[in-house]
Amino acid sequence: MSLLPSQQIVLASGNAGKIKEIQAIMAAHTIVPQAQFNVPEADETGATFIENAILKARNAALHTGLPAIADDSGLVVDALGGEPGVISARYAGPAATAADNVAKLLAELKGVPAAQRSARFICVIVLMEHALDPCPKIAQGVWEGRILEQPTGANGFGYDPVFWVPEYDCSSAQLSAQTKNSLSHRGGALRALLALN
Ligand code: IMP
Repeated sequence: MSLLPSQQIVLASGNAGKIKEIQAIMAAHTIVPQAQFNVPEADETGATFIENAILKARNAALHTGLPAIADDSGLVVDALGGEPGVISARYAGPAATAADNVAKLLAELKGVPAAQRSARFICVIVLMEHALDPCPKIAQGVWEGRILEQPTGANGFGYDPVFWVPEYDCSSAQLSAQTKNSLSHRGGALRALLALN
């Protein structure tokens, strides 16, 4: 990454779970959540994770004058034709909680056998050096798993309690934060971003 470690980078996210994961992996950089600059939320109107991540990073850079990092992520479920995808955070409606989204997902998958419950978390991370950066750095991470029939575990956030992790034969809400970072879509995308020149 071309930015100096000491350079402040604004993080275009208000999700406490994601902020923790990103700060842990980017420990060498000074990451400041956009809430500290009163940045208004960007409208996530894109049809893809990449478009939404760019919209969020551009919005944060525009309002702060700082380089900005944004991630857009979600769950892609094969048996649901890729849903919930870019609307993962609001799958059960605009004001949905994580529990609402999980309940809707399990209802949609009712009766679908384990072998057909394949799914993956996708994360796209974008770094824009400024709001008009014509060449954002873009990195992607993918985490393959399956949707469980019932929520299990208390760590993480979002769909973690129903995402079965083949490497550990447990849900991602049963992993420590450190283990999750080493496997997850967000960890993979962040490491790929840091490796870009
Ligand atoms: P975003 O904030 O628009 O990127 O929405 C991401 C949504 O996808 C979150 O609100 C979660 O519902 C889901 N999601 C993304 N990453 C994870 C994860 O690591 N664990 C569980 N759910 C996730």
